[in-house]
Amino acid sequence: MKNLHNALQLKQLYLLKQMGVRYTDIKPSDLEAEPAQLPDNLDALRQLVEGCHLCDLSKSRNKVVFGEGDPHAELMFVGEGPGATEDSTGRPFVGRAGELLTKMIENVLYLPRSKVYIANIVKCRPPGNRVPTPGEALTCRPYLLKQIELIRPRIIVTLGATAYRYLSNDQSPIGRVRGHPIQMNGYLLVPTFHPSYLLRNPSAKKEAFHDMLLVKELWEKGKKV
Ligand code: URA
Repeated sequence: MKNLHNALQLKQLYLLKQMGVRYTDIKPSDLEAEPAQLPDNLDALRQLVEGCHLCDLSKSRNKVVFGEGDPHAELMFVGEGPGATEDSTGRPFVGRAGELLTKMIENVLYLPRSKVYIANIVKCRPPGNRVPTPGEALTCRPYLLKQIELIRPRIIVTLGATAYRYLSNDQSPIGRVRGHPIQMNGYLLVPTFHPSYLLRNPSAKKEAFHDMLLVKELWEKGKKV
């Protein structure tokens, strides 16, 4: 039965090949070279992303977690990918890690959460909360880059290693780069720890607190008066 199934699949692939369809493997360089043609407004982009089936994460997701917040936010937070609570609600950072992030925003930056924008590297939950594969992250990244282009934040805080790696293209360990702002094309990137890591390692909260104070200082420096 399995052999028959495989033979039928193979036949279909040969048919597609005869029709001119070519197999391509996603390489980071391909994605850099060809910026995706995506809608120029956030609502249309959200609609498109909500119907996305470009990677396997779409098969197991319940809801796409596009991102939320002020569409004109000067400050943006980027995490890794939705967890279980986010997958069932369609909202970013609403589980335990989200509660901590919200406290960091409201109690250290003294900003309402609704004044910032919160998004993730991947918009669909990786099963079992595993780290997204490079293929998944790079397939989803154009959506995040378009969100950034449309929102035009002044500062982006990356939460954890995955968000830092896929926004900066730097593989350095998060423990080494956290708290050191990097000037990117059009915004300042400030890497810090992921709130889930802080929940597992409360002693690192002190460093994350310092990172937030730095964000507050940078944010206030550039505030329009
Ligand atoms: N962790 C993330 O990285 N993102 C979320 O939205 C929730 C938890």
